[in-house]
Amino acid sequence: MGRKFFVGGNWKCNGTTDQVDKIVKTLNEAQIASPDVVEVVVSPPYVFIPMVKSKLRPEIQVAAQNCWVKKGGAFTGEVSAEMLVNLGVPWVILGHSERRGLLAESNEFVGDKVAYALSQGLKVIACVGETLEQREAGSTMDVVAAQTKAIAERIKDWSNVVIAYEPVWAIGTGKVATPAQAQEVHVSLRDWLKTNVSPEVAESTRIIYGGSVTAANCKELAGQPDVDGFLVGGASLKPEFIDIINSAT
Ligand code: PEP
Repeated sequence: MGRKFFVGGNWKCNGTTDQVDKIVKTLNEAQIASPDVVEVVVSPPYVFIPMVKSKLRPEIQVAAQNCWVKKGGAFTGEVSAEMLVNLGVPWVILGHSERRGLLAESNEFVGDKVAYALSQGLKVIACVGETLEQREAGSTMDVVAAQTKAIAERIKDWSNVVIAYEPVWAIGTGKVATPAQAQEVHVSLRDWLKTNVSPEVAESTRIIYGGSVTAANCKELAGQPDVDGFLVGGASLKPEFIDIINSAT
């Protein structure tokens, strides 16, 4: 079976109840491609998750933007995988570059989080990507391979994992990777999975692109054979997110 197109909207640390209401209304009223063609997930801040879940059309799923690395308990300020499962949240984003960078989340810590979230029944959008310095030093593939390896060493079943390739230099900067740059890394990542995990996992795992995706650039990126969808930040808060969803068709 082919890889179903996947579009995630990462709302990051944005929104008021009024703004969230507006985004949900826009999504609910939009003509979007069938769930047979595209899987759509939006990721509000934790505090808005129950509100979004109760109002959003059922074809669009919800993700948390993070969760704790192990069972909940005395970890002030954290939210556990068990809590997300309890709330009926099916997905979680882990290893976003803002957390790797600003909160010093290491490859190993992200790998542990992915393994624990999967063990609790969550599906994971696992983010990888290089900084501008790393790209300019020619180490893009070494960086994303090391990030992916830390996950691969800790999990066996990849069926509930989507890899988001998000070059750090493209996130929130307006500097999108060219379709050729995205394709080059996606195909290398798929080769890495083929060699280091299995040909089946390489063939079936969705590798989505993130970094300044907009309505204007999504169609060309979506046309690349190894780009299986998008993780969208800024544009997921705007009506153009609908065009990005529909770039699957
Ligand atoms: C993101 O935060 O995952 C992202 C891709 O952001 P933006 O689309 O704003 O670059």
